[in-house]
Amino acid sequence: MERFYWNEDMETMQPAVLRQLENEYLRTQLDYVWECSAFYQTKFAEAGVKRADIRDLADLPLLPFTEKDECRRNQHEYPPFGSYLATSQEQVIRAHKTSGTTGRALYVALTHRDRNLMNECAARSYWASGLRPSDTVVHCLNYRLWIGGYSDHENLEETGATIVPFGVGQTALLIQTIRELHVNAISATPSYMLPLMEAVLAQGLNPRDLGLNKGFFGAEPGISEPGVRARMEETWGLRAMDANFGMADILSIMGSECEQRQGLHFHAQGAVAVELIEPETGTPLALTEGAEGELVYTHLLKEAQPLVRYRARDVVRILGTGPCACGRTSFRFRILGRSDDMLQVRGVNVFPTGVGNTLAHLSDQLSGEFQIIVDHPPPHQYLRVRVELAQKLIPDTVGDLPQQIIQALREQLSFRVEPELVPYGTLPRTEQKARRVIKTYEQAGS
Ligand SMILES: [Zn+2]
Repeated sequence: MERFYWNEDMETMQPAVLRQLENEYLRTQLDYVWECSAFYQTKFAEAGVKRADIRDLADLPLLPFTEKDECRRNQHEYPPFGSYLATSQEQVIRAHKTSGTTGRALYVALTHRDRNLMNECAARSYWASGLRPSDTVVHCLNYRLWIGGYSDHENLEETGATIVPFGVGQTALLIQTIRELHVNAISATPSYMLPLMEAVLAQGLNPRDLGLNKGFFGAEPGISEPGVRARMEETWGLRAMDANFGMADILSIMGSECEQRQGLHFHAQGAVAVELIEPETGTPLALTEGAEGELVYTHLLKEAQPLVRYRARDVVRILGTGPCACGRTSFRFRILGRSDDMLQVRGVNVFPTGVGNTLAHLSDQLSGEFQIIVDHPPPHQYLRVRVELAQKLIPDTVGDLPQQIIQALREQLSFRVEPELVPYGTLPRTEQKARRVIKTYEQAGS
């Protein structure tokens, strides 16, 4: 019989049973944090909270948030891992660096147990997205420092699949390797598939000739944009899955789509507790279907750098909380964007992800790459958006395309843009997260 879940007990656990388990883990974790994390000893003392005040998950809002900036300052003061390193240096087996898309990067330390827990949650995620031991996967994320490289390689391997370590660059060798090793699956960022497609076409091949039938994507929101997904599946003849949601400082992978593709399942049950809050005020929100807010993470079994009520600034919409058709009981969500990237245009919250989703509907004329150019501090009456044309189109011959863009964004997202069309290949392609908001003015304090 085919194994349907990676960890059936955890993935199909009834919410009440899971909560009991997580309450137990939280109590042990907080005992540990209070005893071993100098950072939290100071922080909690300053906030006037005592260990005895926190009995279970329901009491978490009594604790202060942990901000990424605090961790950055703390690492600067206590290099290299900060005083929130709760273990001895001997227990650390691996160090990564965050991608640092919004300021100075953080160093992330893992112990043996942290590594095993990461592998476990990631295997649940990849398995849910369809990865099986019979697959041969080429892993095309940057291996240098970044957790998506080496650690995700290991995460893929945990499922029993055959993993080919490739990294980025050298596309001709990549194409050769895929063909010679009969690779049938690829792990990459969605935007990486574009230069790969160009390289395949340049060799006089059709992308479908490569024989890839599964794609495991992550690290940027691209694949949740319906137009982008449809186009990629059509081009490559593969099933493209959003399989890799996570972050180095919390857990490399803690969310992925199942076969139903009804949003990302949360796969870090028993490893990370989540709360939903209102981004501006920090007020707790009920995690119910339709709710929108920022996810706040608390480690439950972390050794090296346990974080409590960590704000990673992901704003999400909760798509479902009851059991999914796949049988998994975890909630499903969709990333709306980062609260850091959120722009307000005449009172409307605008996320670059939303702009990408809308532009994807014009995918026959656009490449999918865009940048929002912010040349002055708020308030904004409209946004300037630099939009890249599809291959072979030039800005002078696109007719009413600018008008279509203006109209689509006004209808879908209720704000006004001034589009600037640029030829194909103008905007940078990245192997990590694409920068969608370009601020061209001096920001106070940065
Ligand atoms: Zn499901």
